[in-house]
Amino acid sequence: MPEPRQAAFADWLETVRHDPDTGSCLTPLSESGRRWLANVFDAHGEVPPAYLLDLLFERRGALARTALDLLRDAAERDLGIAPDLRVRADAHSDYEPSGEVEVHGEQIRAVGLPEALAAVAGAVQSFLAEAHRVVWPVCPEHRTGVHPALTAGTAVWHCTTGAHELPLP
Ligand SMILES: [Zn+2]
Repeated sequence: MPEPRQAAFADWLETVRHDPDTGSCLTPLSESGRRWLANVFDAHGEVPPAYLLDLLFERRGALARTALDLLRDAAERDLGIAPDLRVRADAHSDYEPSGEVEVHGEQIRAVGLPEALAAVAGAVQSFLAEAHRVVWPVCPEHRTGVHPALTAGTAVWHCTTGAHELPLP
């Protein structure tokens, strides 16, 4: 981004981060979330907060569906079970100005894919435990369940037993 445009982006970012509606949707803001906002700014300029809410709703829905597809495929590969889960999206929520996007009761507030993957991974794990009584995934080395986490902006499975990470999905 050239200098003046960089400054205009910084100003706009301040505005949307302090707006009463979009501000709560953008806190905390991850690095991938910031990149998405930079792309929005490049494509559409200084979009007003009300319009940004629509874009956020679309973004969260798209990320949740992408994350769920990846995790469903991974579970099916490992277990032969494709979790019967859907992304539920409600554009008119009383609680979330940008609308609610959720998977199995887990609110997806991510603006970046790594955050969405970590959130949806938790939802898929809960579903598999409740509906199929299986622990997934399991660390191949330690034979214990692993948990979704974010490490340096990347979604990973964290193995508490060995204090190491496995790729997610
Ligand atoms: Zn392990």
